[in-house]
Amino acid sequence: MNNHYDFIFAGGGCAGLSLAYAMSQTEFRDRAMLIIDPVVKAYNDHTWCYWSREPSPFDALAYRTWDRIAFIAAGFEREFDLAPYRYRMVRGLDFYRHTREALTALPNVDFLRGEVERVVDAAGPEKQRAEVLVNALTFTGDWVFDSRYRATEYRPLTRRYHYLTQHFLGWEIETAAPVFDPATPRMFDFRTPQRGAMRFVYVLPYDARRGLVEYTLFSKDLLPLAEYEAALRAYIADVLGAREYRILEEERDLIPMTEHPAERRAGQRVLNIGTRGGRVKASTGYAFLRIQRDAAAIIRSLRARGHPFDLPAPPRRYRTFDAILLDILQYHGDLGQTAFTAMFRNNPLDRLFRFLDEEGDVYENLRLMASVPSWPFIRAWIHLHTRRLR
Ligand SMILES: Cc1cc2nc3c(=O)[nH]c(=O)nc-3n(C[C@H](O)[C@H](O)[C@H](O)COP(=O)(O)OP(=O)(O)OC[C@H]3O[C@@H](n4cnc5c(N)ncnc54)[C@H](O)[C@@H]3O)c2cc1C
Repeated sequence: MNNHYDFIFAGGGCAGLSLAYAMSQTEFRDRAMLIIDPVVKAYNDHTWCYWSREPSPFDALAYRTWDRIAFIAAGFEREFDLAPYRYRMVRGLDFYRHTREALTALPNVDFLRGEVERVVDAAGPEKQRAEVLVNALTFTGDWVFDSRYRATEYRPLTRRYHYLTQHFLGWEIETAAPVFDPATPRMFDFRTPQRGAMRFVYVLPYDARRGLVEYTLFSKDLLPLAEYEAALRAYIADVLGAREYRILEEERDLIPMTEHPAERRAGQRVLNIGTRGGRVKASTGYAFLRIQRDAAAIIRSLRARGHPFDLPAPPRRYRTFDAILLDILQYHGDLGQTAFTAMFRNNPLDRLFRFLDEEGDVYENLRLMASVPSWPFIRAWIHLHTRRLR
């Protein structure tokens, strides 16, 4: 193992491995790389889903791909044909195995198990480098990509922004009788009591008897475990109609939902990536494809500029849209269902996806905003501004 690397990855989860893997597919594949993470990921800790219209790097790994999705709310139920998009699911375990195998096959890539304590720009003659302290050893890198992140450390930092979470408990279940429609995931199923917060069930059907059923909230406060479990049990029995089933796997976690701008450049030689680098979409919690697009942009910047910092920034209006939605979810959680229903009911799906992907033009974005009940949004917008003035 060397002391110096071209690229050091502090954190080898989704973002660290995606970027290292993306580099391994380019002319950077011969560079010395070090990937540091305290955890050897030999288990399935995530199921990553994403919609996409164009090919993306891990499509071939998809465990399931769907061409339809369902949206079910009070008074509105629709199945959407996704074309030209497809909805894919990549299992964490498949992703870790695939990227790790590809990277360990390269002689210039090292993995280190350890907890990075510090990432700083080097001082003195080593100024063109960053230092990484781990396991009481110091490594230097030309560039350090920092994705260290722990959900347990997520907390409000200022009164200026919203700090909600997407929190969920998911069970992969196998039922005695066929209860799933394998062709159609339920992206939102609101047939669960709302009790003042946005609550829905997310269903990924693997076949007629097996699927992931996830009880999800977009809100500020977490629930006691028993409450997620009771809601899941009720949905499986009363809505899916499954009397007998086995739980095969469990997914319980939280995703930050905040418009707080992430620090991207954390030093002369340090770039934050992944959740730490603000790649989670504040109003939906989706990040997987955004992380892949970020990896491609970092590589383009390295190639064109010799540094990784020339990254595209979405128009500022998207942060305002996110903040408005978060404000509604935080202070009027019962309106979450209404807002999402209006977005799905009153817009073609591709317009909605472009909006969520931060791609649409102003006119298209405004058409989408005009399709939702205006008063809660105006009230949230006013609240946002008065909050910031205080
Ligand atoms: C259960 C779950 C399901 C999700 N599902 C979806 C989905 O379907 N679609 C979607 O688009 N997004 C989804 N997300 C959101 C997002 O895609 C993931 O959170 C994604 O894993 C973020 O990548 P990351 O690299 O930032 O974080 P992680 O993948 O969590 O990686 C962070 C890494 O940092 C390591 N680390 C922490 N501290 C240190 C340290 N001191 N030193 C070194 N390493 C350290 C951790 O061990 C970890 O491996 C999901 C998130 C969760 C939690």
